[in-house]
Amino acid sequence: MRVIDHHIVGLQGGGAGGRTSDVFDPNTGRVQAQVTLGTQADLDHAVAAAEAAQPGWAATNPQRRARVMFAFKALVEAHMDELARLLSSEHGKVIADAKGDIQRGLEVVEFACGIPHVLKGEYTQGAGPGIDVYSMRQPIGIGAGITPFNFPAMIPLWMGAVATACGNAFILKPSERDPSVPVRLAELMREAGMPEGIFQVVNGDKEMVDAILDHPAIGAVSFVGSSDIAHYVYRRGVAAGKRVQAMGGAKNHGIVMPDADLDQVVADLSGAAFGSAGERCMALPVVVPVGDKTADALREKLLPAIEALRVGVSTDAEAHYGPVINAAHKARVEQWIQTGVDEGAELVVDGRGFTLQGHEEGFFVGPSLFDRVTPQMKSYQEEVFGPVLQIVRAQSFEDAVRLPSEHQYGNGVAIFTRNGHAAREFAARVNVGMVGINVPIPVPVAYHTFGGWKRSAFGDTNQHGMEGVKFWTKVKTITQRWPDGSGMSGGDLPRGSEDGGPSRIQDAFVIPTMG
Ligand code: NAD
Repeated sequence: MRVIDHHIVGLQGGGAGGRTSDVFDPNTGRVQAQVTLGTQADLDHAVAAAEAAQPGWAATNPQRRARVMFAFKALVEAHMDELARLLSSEHGKVIADAKGDIQRGLEVVEFACGIPHVLKGEYTQGAGPGIDVYSMRQPIGIGAGITPFNFPAMIPLWMGAVATACGNAFILKPSERDPSVPVRLAELMREAGMPEGIFQVVNGDKEMVDAILDHPAIGAVSFVGSSDIAHYVYRRGVAAGKRVQAMGGAKNHGIVMPDADLDQVVADLSGAAFGSAGERCMALPVVVPVGDKTADALREKLLPAIEALRVGVSTDAEAHYGPVINAAHKARVEQWIQTGVDEGAELVVDGRGFTLQGHEEGFFVGPSLFDRVTPQMKSYQEEVFGPVLQIVRAQSFEDAVRLPSEHQYGNGVAIFTRNGHAAREFAARVNVGMVGINVPIPVPVAYHTFGGWKRSAFGDTNQHGMEGVKFWTKVKTITQRWPDGSGMSGGDLPRGSEDGGPSRIQDAFVIPTMG
């Protein structure tokens, strides 16, 4: 059986521990590989290699670091089909979604290609008599990323591209459920010219996460996953003196105003609620029509759209979505559906018990629709992370603003309306980090920044964009004063021709050719 090892400099094979975990093909339900579960000793190897490599990488001028990013982008594009197939075979998302996962990661790589510009710093001339003040951003040193299963390309690149472009060494601990693409990305980074030791992958589970959080040489940890683990990672990392950002779960609402274009809303919901089997932190699993008339009309239009959804193997080009990640998650999603029924919500479409002919052991869940879900229900309050859409009926715009604002999660939210004033009010008042106006999945582009509020994120900086640069760097501020203590005047200073130095002041400032 194929074994997925670490990508650690100088460490061949499975590392010290000997523990492994099954990696499934969710389409068939079969184990297709084993992933090494690393130990503290494996991490120590990676940290030693990172420590050896990082000072040289930090001293490499930012243009050269950017060139590695350009080369890496070209390599990933050249390997797009291979990577998408690999990703799809371990995650279960359809090939088009797998390519989207990689593409969104590449957009952060493109942002990182501009790192010389964003690291320029700030300068004030004449902050006082003869005094100038300037600031520079310096890398943290060694940073780590701990990532979830649902975006095995995009999320490692959110972190790894910005961290390394800023001059850090980066150690990635990807999800043990689909680790192959992260390891391939590390190989491609190396092929692109990244010095060894700057982008490494340690595989593992909680044991490895704890080793990262406690390691004194790791200065910053970026985490994305479920909220309870995010909170744990945040507290433990901060207690160990690290800089930590930890993104958690979500339960995003889509508000549908009475004036919305319902056909467009239904088309958007088909993708946003059910795409990738609902396993997206920016999925839209709750729809909030305002007024019963809107709710009834929306429900009527949703039914045929849900019926038309094609659930298939992840390589089926016609499939809207594929299987969920594993058997435990399938059982969990089906259990949430049962909880909704027990709580009194109206199950309009039941996706439980779905089997795909020829793939009876695959982890497939059919689409489900609930109506008359209320805020008191546990199945509303918690993240289901499956192909389940819940209708929560609101009676007014105020109700609609209140629902996502009071929910424990605050990742994304969307409003569908033709009324600019309502949209503007909603965006200003809603207590959620990312807002879509007639955009169902408002994932910001790479040069803006990604992050939720409340239990969707712990820590105070977002992913990528300038927030990412801030997270992966420390600011140093220099206040300088160069008094003219020599009695020389600027015009003839310094006079160095006798000792081989520059003879005119202009020559003293000729910048050596870079690159
Ligand atoms: P998860 O929390 O189970 O795992 C995330 C990471 O934590 C993995 O690398 C895993 O190995 C590690 N981990 C798991 N259990 C641990 C433990 N007890 N102690 C320490 N580390 C542990 O999340 P998942 O199921 O892989 O991913 C889905 C979750 O991620 C969902 O809740 C989803 O909303 C969330 N997510 C959030 C965002 C965001 O930006 N807010 C983005 C994507 C996914």
